Amino acid sequence: MPSSSDIEAAAAELGFTWVGDSYPGKNTIKMDFVCANGHEIQKSWCDLQAKKKCRFCSRRVTTGAELDSILAELGFAHKETKHFTDAKGKNRVTLVVECGAGHPIETTMVSLKRALKNGTSGCRHCPK
Ligand SMILES: [Zn+2]
Ligand SMILES: [Zn+2]
Repeated sequence: MPSSSDIEAAAAELGFTWVGDSYPGKNTIKMDFVCANGHEIQKSWCDLQAKKKCRFCSRRVTTGAELDSILAELGFAHKETKHFTDAKGKNRVTLVVECGAGHPIETTMVSLKRALKNGTSGCRHCPK
């Protein structure tokens, strides 16, 4: 049976912060964690042992580094990443960014990549 510090250490290794305070008594009972990107997730002690990553982060096909370089090329600043479920029950991600002219916009990775490819501003408020 893991101690609280075992759980904290295992969570830290995965970049998670444990928001509980005691072991739930069973290896398969989920505990609450917050990942390095602020996602609220549930993992059991078994999941931690299996080094299961945050399901929101691991679902993203684009890495943080790739996103950063795309945003830098467009001159955008990353404000927030929103995960939500659309009307069809599909998991979607939108990015809240600020363009070089200071317009706050909600966009997607696909739109940003398209803007880069087409040489457009990527901001619907900016000309081009
Ligand atoms: Zn995450
Ligand atoms: Zn703009």
